Amino acid sequence: ILNVRNLKKTYSSGSKNLTVIDDITFSIEEGDTFAIVGPSGSGKTTLLGLCAGLDEISEGVIELCGEDLSALNEDQRALLRNEKVGFIFQDFQLLPTLTALENVSVPLELQGAANASKDAMELLNKVGLGDRHDHYPSQLSGGEQQRVALARAFSNKPSILFADEPTGNLDEETGEKVIKLLFDLNKEMGTTLVIVTHDLELANLNKHVLRLKGGKIVINETTSIS
Ligand code: ATP
Repeated sequence: ILNVRNLKKTYSSGSKNLTVIDDITFSIEEGDTFAIVGPSGSGKTTLLGLCAGLDEISEGVIELCGEDLSALNEDQRALLRNEKVGFIFQDFQLLPTLTALENVSVPLELQGAANASKDAMELLNKVGLGDRHDHYPSQLSGGEQQRVALARAFSNKPSILFADEPTGNLDEETGEKVIKLLFDLNKEMGTTLVIVTHDLELANLNKHVLRLKGGKIVINETTSIS
């Protein structure tokens, strides 16, 4: 579902070029759960953004859901993301002026989905927040906000879901609950999951672990845990 070949990302600042992703090749099969780990600054978030088509690559090829990202224009990439990709961020990124329900339903409505509100409510019930549907993000705890973000991420029934440090802003216990929910929803929906994490325990829950250092892959391994 994701093929990355000889990927490079270089930022230029003044006369200097900074290579933050340096000749990376790997692939993710449909249904995989995949963790990207590594020290701060090793390029994890950059790699996730490139794979999700959010950022321009400098060199190499990324095929996402059968599409060569470099061959698509910005509109086509946005369409691919809307139809096939879900995202979860460390800082939740809910819209503060929308209720929990609207945060899930509005993106669906914008994509022209029928029954957006009903589907959104169903998802909120799944993440245990049906009774909080009319609350605004500021009225919800961090864990609750991330559960709304999970409901939103799964709302378009994505083929692949990218999560960047999804428990980074949560205490350990809340983080564990959010991860359990994420894995449960993932299993139920058959989504391919790619998680960037500092949390080694979380990384070990994944079948595949990719370890980066200085923009290069230092380990690409399959664990025995499913
Ligand atoms: P962390 O775990 O701290 O979030 P990370 O592994 O996700 O780190 P990235 O955020 O991908 O690392 O950053 C990798 C490198 O790229 C860093 O050295 C960072 O400073 C650099 N970088 C990221 N975005 C830009 C940018 N827009 N312009 C210049 N350099 C950038």
